[in-house]
Amino acid sequence: MNIAVCVKQVPDTADIKWTENNTIQREGLESIINPFDMYALETALKLKDEFKSVNITALTMGPPQAEEIIRKSIAIGINDGFVITDKKFAGADTAATGRTIAAAIKEKIKNVDLVLCGQFATDGDTAQTGPAISVNLNYPIITYVKEILSVKNNIITVKKEVEDGMEILKVKLPAVLCMLKCDYEPRRPLIDGFKTAQKADIPKYGLEDIGLDAEQVGFKGSPTYVSKAFRPEQKQCGDIFEPTNTDDAINKILEALNG
Ligand code: FAD
Repeated sequence: MNIAVCVKQVPDTADIKWTENNTIQREGLESIINPFDMYALETALKLKDEFKSVNITALTMGPPQAEEIIRKSIAIGINDGFVITDKKFAGADTAATGRTIAAAIKEKIKNVDLVLCGQFATDGDTAQTGPAISVNLNYPIITYVKEILSVKNNIITVKKEVEDGMEILKVKLPAVLCMLKCDYEPRRPLIDGFKTAQKADIPKYGLEDIGLDAEQVGFKGSPTYVSKAFRPEQKQCGDIFEPTNTDDAINKILEALNG
C-alpha cells in the first residue's frame, strides 16, 4: 500500500504578521509541521505498523526550506519525501495549491492508494486543500476523520466526526482522507530516526517536473485573491441582567427588546 501524506509548514505562533500583499509574513518565524498533519503522519505510521508492506511518502509545497519538515517526518518513521517548490508557484490560492499537489502526487508517487491530509492548516485554515487535491486526482474524499478502523479488500472504514456524534463510513481505495485531532498522540522521533533523516535525499520538484503549465499554477492559476486581511474587532459583550426569578427575567428581556 502506498500512502502520500501532505504536510504543511506553518508558523509556530498565534501572532501572525501580514505582508503588504495580504499574505503571511513567514520570515523570522519558527516553523513547525501543521499540528493536524502530525495526526495524518501518525495515522499513516499506524497502518505501517499493522501492514508491513506500507510505503509512506511525505510531501510539501513551499519554499526550499520546507525540506526541514520532510526530514522531521522521516525522523518519526516515514519512508521518504519531497518538496514541491518553484518561484512560479508563488501566490497560489487553495485551488492552485490543490492542483499542484495532486499533479506532483500523480507524477512522483507510483500507484498511490491513500492520500492523507490534515483537516485544516493553522495559518490559512480554509480546509480546502484536501478537497482540491481529491477533485484533481478524481478520488473520493472523507473529511473530519477521527480514526481509520480497518483496511480490508481495498475498502477503508473510518470514523468521521459530525455535528452530533460520529459516523462510520467505508470508501474504496484510492481515496483522500482529511484527519482531525485523533485520540492517539503523534509519536516522537528516536535517535536512529534523526540519523536516517539527516542522511535522506529529499528531491525538490519544480513546474517542469509535475506536468502542469505556468498558467495552471501560482498567481496565474488562482481564481481567487486576498483583497483584505484583518483581525476582527473584539465586540463588547451585551447587557447583563440579574433577574430575581423567571418572570422578572422575561420582563427585563422584553423591556430591552422594546427599547
Ligand atoms: P488547509 O486547506 O486548511 O489545509 C488542509 C491540509 O491540506 C493541511 O493540513 C495539509 O495536509 C494540506 N496542505 C495545505 N497546504 C499544503 C502545502 N502547501 N503542502 C502540503 N500540504 C498542504 N501562501 C503562500 O505561502 N504564499 C503566497 O503567495 C500565497 N498566496 C495566496 C494567495 C491567495 C489568493 C490565497 C487564497 C492564498 C494564498 N496563499 C499563499 C495561501 C495558500 O494558498 C494556502 O496556504 C494553501 O493553499 C493551503 O491552504 P490553507 O492554509 O487554508 O490549508
